Amino acid sequence: MIKYTLQCNDGHVFEDWFASSSKFDELSANHELSCPQCGSTEITKTIMAPNVASAPAAAPAPSCAAAGGCSNMGCPAMQG
Ligand SMILES: [Zn+2]
Repeated sequence: MIKYTLQCNDGHVFEDWFASSSKFDELSANHELSCPQCGSTEITKTIMAPNVASAPAAAPAPSCAAAGGCSNMGCPAMQG
């Protein structure tokens, strides 16, 4: 038995078990698969993507370590 994550042409994602990968192809070709949410028979196998956590995009807050050299008027280093 093999479990596939499937998606209909309406974007509904669901999972189903098949005896083999060729069995899925057979059922799909014969439109014997249907979406449990909308009944669509346009079912495709989704690519099983590994769980890769995307790296945080936020850059670290700029630190004003340039004492006396900061030209930013809003910089806390300019307040005193
Ligand atoms: Zn659907």
